[in-house]
Amino acid sequence: MKKLFACLFSMFLFVPLLPQANSSQVIPFRMEELTATQFVSAIAKAGSVCVIPLGILEKHGPHLPIGADLFQAREVAFMAAEKEYAVVFPPYFTGQIFEAKHQPGAIAYSTDLMWKMLDETCSELSRNGFKKIILLSGHGGNNSFLPFFCQSQLASPRDYIVVLFQPSPDEATQKAINTLKKTKNDGHAGEEETSMMYVIRPDLVHAEDAKSQSGADQAHLKDLPFGYTGIWWYARFPNHYAGDGSQYNKELGKLLLKSDADQLVELISYLKKNNTIETLTKEFYSKAGAPVK
Ligand SMILES: [Zn+2]
Repeated sequence: MKKLFACLFSMFLFVPLLPQANSSQVIPFRMEELTATQFVSAIAKAGSVCVIPLGILEKHGPHLPIGADLFQAREVAFMAAEKEYAVVFPPYFTGQIFEAKHQPGAIAYSTDLMWKMLDETCSELSRNGFKKIILLSGHGGNNSFLPFFCQSQLASPRDYIVVLFQPSPDEATQKAINTLKKTKNDGHAGEEETSMMYVIRPDLVHAEDAKSQSGADQAHLKDLPFGYTGIWWYARFPNHYAGDGSQYNKELGKLLLKSDADQLVELISYLKKNNTIETLTKEFYSKAGAPVK
């Protein structure tokens, strides 16, 4: 009772001092958390920018969760949206992952479906008022698919734009990353990815298992002259693991996430203020409709 009184008393004392709740301050950036009413305000607050973090379900070495890419992509989006408001799309797992079909846990949708899912997600976002869509991929297997998807936006006129986020650490950050890193061969589920996962969800990092398989480059096709083949990744990393995830550190993980998030903030604020892509695209479509006059 004494406690309740003290509690009520302190509420009486402090509540009037709190800032007045302002609807623009409390609108969540995670789309799935918005009410339909907030959704309308969110479009305006976001300058019609929606970020789709894309993950995948695939083996991540012997020690990381199969959804690791989505955890990382969403973390970057959340960190950025906190600084520069944009709406963040719910968990999205549809992408290109044929190269991991020989390993447990790969959900490898067909090319038709991965294309349609993304195309219809973008057009549905547009129908709902989001006209500037940022694709944020946490997954290396999308590195050919997503630029092709963006390029294909020019095939026919549409009332929204799609931009692929392509971060690249600045010189100072890259120097700091190099200083912190212990491994030279680092890629899928290696030092960087394990470090980021350790920051986001340390309970899902099973570093004690990281050395149970080899993440070394097997280089089976190193003699193939001037050729690209779909089996290239398997030829190099048949364990679907590149690097050494036992070497990780929190500082590196934080730095990598912050570097990406800061650059995403720049992209979001550019798109909020700038309509150059829309203007050029419109001009392009009008000329493309009748190239010969
Ligand atoms: Zn990954």
